Amino acid sequence: TNIIEIKKLRKIYGDGVEVVALDDVDLTIKEGEVLSIVGPSGSGKSTLLNMIGLLDTPSGGEIWLKGQNITRATPKERARLRNKELGFIFQFHHLLPEFNAVENVMMPLLIAGVDRDEARDRAIALLQEVGLADRLMNRPNQLSGGQNQRVAVARALAGHPSIVIGDEPTGNLDTKSSDMIYELLRKLNRQMNQTFILVTHDMTMAEKTDRILRIVDGRIVCEMRRDGDEFVT
Ligand code: ADP
Ligand code: ADP
Repeated sequence: TNIIEIKKLRKIYGDGVEVVALDDVDLTIKEGEVLSIVGPSGSGKSTLLNMIGLLDTPSGGEIWLKGQNITRATPKERARLRNKELGFIFQFHHLLPEFNAVENVMMPLLIAGVDRDEARDRAIALLQEVGLADRLMNRPNQLSGGQNQRVAVARALAGHPSIVIGDEPTGNLDTKSSDMIYELLRKLNRQMNQTFILVTHDMTMAEKTDRILRIVDGRIVCEMRRDGDEFVT
């Protein structure tokens, strides 16, 4: 089944000087798929992620999520769907500095109305899963870059999202930490049958996914699919 269907999606920024950030993009994403989006800086990758992530609204075309047309959903409905269906991981972890790892992971669950004991249990289980069992009470300034990014992964997955969106999730890490975060996301994706959409500059990482889209000037110019160990167009 298709989890996301995008039809002739357009995004135009600015009044006066207009920037066409997305130019009639058509894209279908299957449930459980691991997809990477590559392309030069300014080509529209983040704009596309922001549309899928219900963080911004299109100028034209349609977006369907799980069979529901969300193109013109109200802000309230968008917020509800974001909390229920989506998990976000960005290049910088955006953890709250005054809270420890457990509290940072619990936060979105508490906001979603999960009770405190349940939220704590889930946060601890996820932090164990990402290899931070001995770092539960550490605040962000007491953890390394890679460890903080793992806390951010735990936080993104805490609400059991059906779609995980990563915008350069390992962009500021060394190769070793970056590989570890990717493998972790991939493992959790398989366990929970999540759809995983990744924007990256790192072709080595993109080549680990099932499908690579290349975007240039707001258009998908090339699409490659994994066939065993190779990619075919
Ligand atoms: P990428 O993620 O591939 O670097 P973006 O999606 O961030 O590209 O940007 C696509 C184009 O849209 C660029 O020309 C960028 O300058 C422009 N753009 C992005 N966000 C805005 C905005 N909020 N206002 C105006 N222009 C924007
Ligand atoms: P990672 O590969 O996860 O980024 P590093 O190799 O940077 O980890 O860190 C190695 C060890 O040093 C880790 O056990 C980590 O806990 C510790 N460490 C790194 N940075 C800090 C810091 N700013 N404060 C406390 N401990 C740190």
